Amino acid sequence: MLDVTRIEALRHAPIAPVLHVIDGTSRPSRDGATSEVISPLDGRAMAVMARGKAVDAEDAIAAARHAFEDGRWSGLPPAERKRIMLRWAGLIEAQALDIAVLGVRNNGTEIGMALKAEPMSAAATIRYYAEATDKIYGEIAPTGDDVLGLVHRAPVGVVGAIVPWNFPLMIGAWKLGPALAAGNTVVLKPAETASLTLVRIAELALEAGVPAGVFNVILGEGKVVGEAMSLSPEIDVLVFTGSGGVGRRLLENAAKSNLKRVYLELGGKSPNIVFADAPSLDEAVKVSAAGIFRNSGQVCVAGSRLLVERSIHEEFVARLVRATEAMKVGDPLDPATAAGAVNSLTQLEQNLRFVAEARAMGRGIMTGGIRILEETGGYYMAPTIVTGVDPADRLAQAEVFGPVLAVLPFDSEEEAVAIANGTDYGLAAAVWTASLSRAHRMVRRLRAGIVHVNTYGGSDLTVPLGGVKQSGNGHDKSLHAFDKYLDLKSAWIKL
Ligand code: NAD
Repeated sequence: MLDVTRIEALRHAPIAPVLHVIDGTSRPSRDGATSEVISPLDGRAMAVMARGKAVDAEDAIAAARHAFEDGRWSGLPPAERKRIMLRWAGLIEAQALDIAVLGVRNNGTEIGMALKAEPMSAAATIRYYAEATDKIYGEIAPTGDDVLGLVHRAPVGVVGAIVPWNFPLMIGAWKLGPALAAGNTVVLKPAETASLTLVRIAELALEAGVPAGVFNVILGEGKVVGEAMSLSPEIDVLVFTGSGGVGRRLLENAAKSNLKRVYLELGGKSPNIVFADAPSLDEAVKVSAAGIFRNSGQVCVAGSRLLVERSIHEEFVARLVRATEAMKVGDPLDPATAAGAVNSLTQLEQNLRFVAEARAMGRGIMTGGIRILEETGGYYMAPTIVTGVDPADRLAQAEVFGPVLAVLPFDSEEEAVAIANGTDYGLAAAVWTASLSRAHRMVRRLRAGIVHVNTYGGSDLTVPLGGVKQSGNGHDKSLHAFDKYLDLKSAWIKL
């Protein structure tokens, strides 16, 4: 049960100026520049935040470099790093509701989901990787008797992490957990519209005993401080979650600078495929609605294309419309809300443009398609279902990253696979069927980083998350995430 009294006490609580965390201290920008943080709940300023320039990013990177080179973190016994990170996870968990409310005010995710997916998930992630710290072994190579071949797993050095606004703590922790557990130091840049909770957990890291300079947070615009990070010769590995356009830019800048390794977790246009033999249409309707509309569709793995076998298309859409219209949309701090605010006015306007284009092409807007609750000043959109979408439409090809579902009928398994695989993306997919054989065939044939069967969107830390095609490279979560943050280093010793 959520503590509603506490939530209301925090709803308008004043927030001290939000500063960079560099080398263990909270600092303003060198030139003192700030920006207003606008809350998507009411469109009003909720805080003032430091706005960094390249020089501030360079300060953060230099602090991380120094902290890496002197071994204050990588040189600790792994069990000691583990102890500090576990303490950090505990501090995050102890303040979870306060952190979640701060995050909701900042980015608009509904509180029930935010609490679980943000501080609680970040704490669990940090704990998972902390526990692994003293369980990573090197190898002895199968050489001849006259040599000893050793394979060490060595930290990569300074990690730059650039994260988006939809789940800043969850996604941030997917990078921080393994990067720090492996002994690296980190400079993290949050999204302009969702920075506050990441600053909060950086302060808690210091309180837990993470040494100064090991985890730095730099605030500001992507094209300024993010750009400085991607061009820096002092960042060894850059990990990014966000849009494909920025991902391309990071690769270009890596090529122009020090060939830093760049790992990208990008967008999706994930197909959710319902066959007529789905074991429960009720369940498929309920989960499909949540799979696109939770967090107002601002979920990288959102099931944004619904492919329905033609024989059940009409009935399924009718039921889905009913389920969608029953969802409570609005104030994300109300625990009954199923879909909160859109993160920014820019994003809301972009969502509405997709709908206007579909309407102009004669597609069916079965529900939603409009801005709602405008009188609050906040950025809210009615969950939107569009039918009659052609696989070639922009709505079937491009990521909206909003509460807009494109519905497409299909007649055969073959056609479903062709439509599903017919975009540039390959992040997630789902199949609803009672046939075990078909389920396994589809898992093999769908080009996606994760395929759900008879559910949508579930997973936990034990399974990797990453995309194929233009949805990215590399994986977050699971022990495979360490591959990005540990180098293989060989020794050849003549005996
Ligand atoms: P975005 O690419 O606009 O921004 C992401 C981050 O990059 C932000 O911190 C931003 O400030 C920074 N940035 C912007 N320009 C930059 C530049 N030139 N150099 C360096 N950094 C720069 O994306 P967004 O709007 O914040 O997030 C939405 C996107 O993220 C969607 O495409 C979504 O699918 C994707 N996403 C993917 C996953 C995943 O795991 N695959 C998860 C969540 C979101």
